[in-house]
Amino acid sequence: MPKDFLKDAQDEYDVIVIGSGLAGLTSANSLAKAGHRVLLIEHHYQLGGMATWFKRSGGHIFDISLHGFPIGMIKSCKRYWTKEIADSIVQLKNIRFDNPMFSLRTTFDRNDFTRLLIEQFGISPETVSAFFDAAREMNFYDNDGATVGEFFAKFFPGREDVIRLLMEPITYANGSTLEDPALTYGIVFSNFMSKGVYTFEGGTDRLIGLMKEEMIANGVDLRIRCEAQQIHIENGRVTGVTVNGRRIKARSVISNANLKQTIFRLAGEENFDGQYLEDAKAVRLNNSSTQVYMALQPGELIDEDCGDLLFSSTAPAFRTDLLLARDITSRTFSFYYPRTRPGTDRCMVVSSTNARFEDWANLDEEEYQRQKDLLIEDTIQACEKYVPNLRERLAHVEASTPRTFQHYTRHLHGASFGTKFEGLAVSRALPEQIGGLYHAGSVGIIMSGWLGAVNYGVIVANDVDGYLLKANPGSSLAAAQQADE
Ligand SMILES: Cc1cc2nc3c(=O)[nH]c(=O)nc-3n(C[C@H](O)[C@H](O)[C@H](O)COP(=O)(O)OP(=O)(O)OC[C@H]3O[C@@H](n4cnc5c(N)ncnc54)[C@H](O)[C@@H]3O)c2cc1C
Repeated sequence: MPKDFLKDAQDEYDVIVIGSGLAGLTSANSLAKAGHRVLLIEHHYQLGGMATWFKRSGGHIFDISLHGFPIGMIKSCKRYWTKEIADSIVQLKNIRFDNPMFSLRTTFDRNDFTRLLIEQFGISPETVSAFFDAAREMNFYDNDGATVGEFFAKFFPGREDVIRLLMEPITYANGSTLEDPALTYGIVFSNFMSKGVYTFEGGTDRLIGLMKEEMIANGVDLRIRCEAQQIHIENGRVTGVTVNGRRIKARSVISNANLKQTIFRLAGEENFDGQYLEDAKAVRLNNSSTQVYMALQPGELIDEDCGDLLFSSTAPAFRTDLLLARDITSRTFSFYYPRTRPGTDRCMVVSSTNARFEDWANLDEEEYQRQKDLLIEDTIQACEKYVPNLRERLAHVEASTPRTFQHYTRHLHGASFGTKFEGLAVSRALPEQIGGLYHAGSVGIIMSGWLGAVNYGVIVANDVDGYLLKANPGSSLAAAQQADE
């Protein structure tokens, strides 16, 4: 008989959270801590969503999305998770760029970028300062319709090299383009620029393990290999979820699944009004990625001079379409030294490139394998510029594609960062359409990435807490959060 992954689950909860990405985990933990009965269901055999890892024989562990996040993650983890998690966040100090326009190293913070822009790129101190201030002052409610490209043109007209320096990492970090609203750039750039780029010591497996311990301590009922098939709605209110064929009642539901999947597949079009559906249909998915994972043989060390994060490109200029093209010219290499997982003797390199689902979707199995092999081959060659004799020193190598991301996270088209910017308004308006139904997960540019997902999880947990309290005064998330401070 197949194993029942819902064995002993209750017939009813206050909240069912669909999906264990960082937003789903954070919502579930916050609500359980406030005393609500929470069931978290994840279709995969591992928690974490895109914040994930995989192991290969020989003791190799690869991180998928642990490349860098802003300092704000320390505060969010301390406040909404644990001190132990927050204390494991450390800075990556050696960020490199190497492309036909320039090669440089930076600590990736405002001071160092100011130095570079003045000394290496010859920009006046006044312009640099005005640019940083304008980016920092942007906020979500002041969208004047300007694009990222127009924002750059105002400060650095004709300076493709400067635009490349300022834009390439952000495009990599969240798939944003020169055509996106300027504020999406300003907010994310300012987040990173506040104090540089950070990582989690011990790897993603340790982070998710610590989060799991905390959720269990707070009483979240955690279930892996449990797929939500339908969200039930009666008289404009959510009533439960069918999970692995079993219907479980809930007073509210948070979907951490892709926004479009939530609306069109799990809830069903018939439950929404016409304008909302139009808006939801118009939401664009974000792009996907390919990655190549390379493990060096035990004890084979990479010179730390390679850097922590290297934005490398052979393209003569910065163009969004070039970043997405199958003919890869831009790669971001993440170098993982033994200090990533203290106590090991392993070095890994993960190469990431933005990619389009359609370039991989319709290949037959043989061609798919051939293209993956080519991707691996080209990546090893490109990486040997920085890690001499890499090929001979490798113990394991493999690749993932947009198909891989779609398979493991159910994100339509393997979207790495959920949806484009317009997804945020549709996500926020979901409970106005269906009482008790919320979405917390990568939408837009601000509410994605590790920090964005955690913070969005908190925002939505607060909304759900308010919704549940109206019906059942007594428990309060706000009170639980205050008690922690
Ligand atoms: C290659 C790559 C590199 C990245 N690098 C970085 C980086 O360096 N820094 C950074 O900050 N961010 C990075 N990101 C982005 C970051 O990982 C994500 O934005 C973030 O982890 C998304 O969290 P989320 O809460 O939106 O949920 P997701 O991670 O999208 O998880 C959603 C979860 O829902 C589950 N689910 C979906 N449908 C169902 C269903 N029907 N039933 C049950 N479960 C379901 C999925 O299996 C998944 O676990 C990267 C992403 C990718 C793909």
